[in-house]
Amino acid sequence: MAIERTFSIIKPDATARNLTGAINAIIEKAGLRIVAQKRIQMTRAQAETFYAVHKSRPFFGELVDFMISAPVVVQVLQGEGAIAKYRDVMGATDPSKAADGTIRKVHAKSIGENSVHGSDAAETAAIEIAQFFSGNEIVG
Ligand code: ATP
Ligand code: MG
Repeated sequence: MAIERTFSIIKPDATARNLTGAINAIIEKAGLRIVAQKRIQMTRAQAETFYAVHKSRPFFGELVDFMISAPVVVQVLQGEGAIAKYRDVMGATDPSKAADGTIRKVHAKSIGENSVHGSDAAETAAIEIAQFFSGNEIVG
C-alpha cells in the first residue's frame, strides 16, 4: 500500500481534558507518524470553511460553536494507507458505536464532542492539509 498523508484534529473536548499526549500515543502505536502538528485557536470562519460540507445539517451551528470553544491541535499523519488506517484508529463517529480500543471509544464524550477528526479520502486530505499547513511545515 502507498505511503499517504491524512489530516487530523484533536478537538476541543480532548484538549480541554489534557488528552493530546494520550491520543498521540494511540496514533503512534498504530504506526502513524506525526509529521506536522500545531495547537491553534480556530476562528469561526476557519471552522465554517472546514465543515462547509455539513452546512445544511441541523447540527452545523452546534458543531462550529464546539470547534471554536477551546484550542485544537491540527496534525498531518503519514504512513501506509494513512487515510483509512486513521479512520480505523479513530472509531465510529458515535463513540457508543466505536470499536474497543479506538480513540473515540476510549476518550470521546458524545457524537458531537468526539475528540478527533480524520480525513475521509485522498482528495479531502489534500484540501484539509492545505487549509492549515504550508509545505515547509510538514517534515516527513
Ligand atoms: P469528522 O469529519 O469530524 O472526522 P466523521 O467523519 O466521523 O467526523 P461526519 O459525518 O463527517 O463524521 O460529521 C462531522 C462531525 O460533525 C462529527 O465528527 C461530529 O463532531 C459532528 N456530528 C456528526 N453527526 C452529529 C450529530 N448527529 N449530532 C451532533 N454532532 C454531529
Ligand atoms: Mg467527516
